[in-house]
Amino acid sequence: GDHRLTEVEPNVWELDRDDDSIPARVLASEALLEHIGDDMTLDQLRNVAAMPGVVAPALCTPDGHQGYGFPVGGVAAFDAEDGCISPGGVGFDINCGVRMVRTNLTYDDVRGREDELVDALFDAVPCGLGGGGVHDRSHADLEKALERGVDWCVEEGYATREDRLRCEDEGMRPDADPDAVSKKAKDRGTSQMGSLGSGNHFLEVQRVTDVYDDDTADAFGLVEDQLVVLIHCGSRGLGHQVCSDYLRRIEQEHPDFLASLPDRDLAAAPADSDLADEYYGAMCAAINFAWVNRQLVTHAVRETFADVFDAPDWEALEMDLLYDVAHNIAKRETHTVTRTGDGYSLGGDGERVERDLYVHRKGATRAFPAGHPEVPSAYRDVGQPVIIPGSMGAGSYVLKGGEQSMGRSFGSTAHGAGRLMSRTRAKDEYWGGDVQDDLRESDEIYVKAASGATIAEEAPGVYKDVDDVVGVSDALGIGDLVARTYPVCNVKG
Ligand code: 5GP
Ligand code: MN
Ligand code: MN
Repeated sequence: GDHRLTEVEPNVWELDRDDDSIPARVLASEALLEHIGDDMTLDQLRNVAAMPGVVAPALCTPDGHQGYGFPVGGVAAFDAEDGCISPGGVGFDINCGVRMVRTNLTYDDVRGREDELVDALFDAVPCGLGGGGVHDRSHADLEKALERGVDWCVEEGYATREDRLRCEDEGMRPDADPDAVSKKAKDRGTSQMGSLGSGNHFLEVQRVTDVYDDDTADAFGLVEDQLVVLIHCGSRGLGHQVCSDYLRRIEQEHPDFLASLPDRDLAAAPADSDLADEYYGAMCAAINFAWVNRQLVTHAVRETFADVFDAPDWEALEMDLLYDVAHNIAKRETHTVTRTGDGYSLGGDGERVERDLYVHRKGATRAFPAGHPEVPSAYRDVGQPVIIPGSMGAGSYVLKGGEQSMGRSFGSTAHGAGRLMSRTRAKDEYWGGDVQDDLRESDEIYVKAASGATIAEEAPGVYKDVDDVVGVSDALGIGDLVARTYPVCNVKG
């Protein structure tokens, strides 16, 4: 539809609104805004701003684009008493996320051996559609993984205690309720523990090309030329099934509430309903599953590196986890907000109160600043690491949670470059084999994928300018630049 936007301050655009909605804001440069305006993103954002119990403002991050109901790149907080919780506000791939693993290797160590490394990684980590995890696991294992997340991996020898501390929420949502996850979802998960999945998921060896903030890079253990590994995957069929299950149950159990929402795809459960609690418990279990998934993939990557680089073990390569951040998540968090006439607002004059909110980050990254008690102690003085991937042919970035993030964006920033075009259009514009050859010949980037179509769908040209996205984040002070990386080898899901 038609939307008027007013730039209320640099890189902050407010959508014109009607009386029963709260302010909706797009965080973007003028150039990024042009892309954000050309699909349904702004309509979706306006709808989110009219949901029950929404706390101002509804936000779209600079990488935002159209999604299912809510935009991808959407940050929406709902009052945990009077508001709601929405599966569409989390997304189908619950706790899709990204982690960075450091190494003590440099780019020189891998030059001339890229093929060998990418082949070995491709063989070690199951990818593509369908089943096959790193390890065959039983239903009993799955139950424990759902309940305890990375803690279970520590017990099984797939993770160190230090790994656990370097995940958002320490790799475990205590509110997980495996009983709220359907048998169908569990069946899908059991065969997929430790797998990348298809399409947008990837495993990328990168080299650090630039350091912008020496002190923080030092705290993060990053130096120029260092090899690092980025792992991007989620909760596979299990998370997808949890989302579908609860969308259906909302239809069945809360038809009137559903009918009152601005769009059926925003399907939500009222915060005070049993269904809200059940969805929250199931979603938290799926969150734990995704952390286990990324941890099992990490374990396989570590063993592969030790093998390829002839090290006695991965510890000798110092393959420590830098951090693991979630992309698609809703969490009960306490935020300081202003009481307004009939609700709450993140900013503004008036009585300031602490309020429990369901903060939905869909295609957005938590970006808590220095000093926040939920930032792991290793990073408490600088802020949490924020990892923003670009594409298989562009740089990616490490940022730190910025001083302005709590006040501007409920402690959030972007999660990637964001798509410019649909997968269908991408397949018309690109041919996988050509993209792969180009990357190798022009940029010395070695890509291996389960299918050529995936490479076309994920060609660098389908993504926005990541430099612009992180520039906006840095300028707004919600996530500040620390370092840049560039792809060396890439395994595409
Ligand atoms: P999403 O979670 O929305 O699927 O993806 C997050 C971001 O990852 C995308 O917006 C895109 O910028 C980035 N991305 C997609 N594929 C690749 C890749 O192969 N390598 C890197 N470094 N980034 C990618
Ligand atoms: Mn995903
Ligand atoms: Mn993701």
